Amino acid sequence: MTRGRPVIAIDGPSGVGKSTVARSLADKLGFRYINTGAMYRALALAADEAGIDVADNESMKEFCASVRLGFDKAKNAIIINNGDFSAEVKTQKAGSLASVSSANPSVRELLVSFQRSLGKDGGIVMEGRDIGTVVFPDAELKIFLDASLEVRAERRHLELKGERETKADVSAEIQERDRRDTERKESPLKMAEDAVRIDTSELGIFDVVEMAFDCARKAGLVVK
Ligand code: C5P
Repeated sequence: MTRGRPVIAIDGPSGVGKSTVARSLADKLGFRYINTGAMYRALALAADEAGIDVADNESMKEFCASVRLGFDKAKNAIIINNGDFSAEVKTQKAGSLASVSSANPSVRELLVSFQRSLGKDGGIVMEGRDIGTVVFPDAELKIFLDASLEVRAERRHLELKGERETKADVSAEIQERDRRDTERKESPLKMAEDAVRIDTSELGIFDVVEMAFDCARKAGLVVK
């Protein structure tokens, strides 16, 4: 290991509960929590706000070449061209835009290198789709969370309670997102060969966090 402290990668499909598990695990370990999905969401929102079609590879390439990225440590949020998108990143619109824009090679190149620089000293729990396979293939611990489509749609629907979508709409949206994330050419969602898979369909969040913490203990990452 060339970094001072370990990296824990948490990957998995939409609505599986990655954020809650990764944040809680980071708290328990005294690590920093980094949500890469929020970065794809914020970048897509910024491009959309600039009038760019996020599905158009050439326009996104130009946008990525000129964009300035920063990180607000206090808010734990990416800053794009001085703009903070943390208030809007959780919306369904941000998720849909991100799912399309993230298939773009220049978007991935930009954000993967940003994520590597943020995590270079370790002491982080980073969540996403490709953390264990592409961003930190040498992560000291990789966890892949999974759950049935029905359970994920139910969880996402509860999370989006302020928005109008029915559960069937949310389920269709997740299915479409799964398809895009797994079928794209660049860094498709797949489990790293050396990841621990946890099926959370029948588990409460507390149990999943305990299982993840146990994995960290077994990997020798719990020093307290
Ligand atoms: O995890 P979240 O739902 O916030 O991610 C939004 C979208 O960003 C995903 O559907 C996926 O297309 C993309 N994403 C990605 N790689 C990551 C994290 C998110 O492609 N590491």
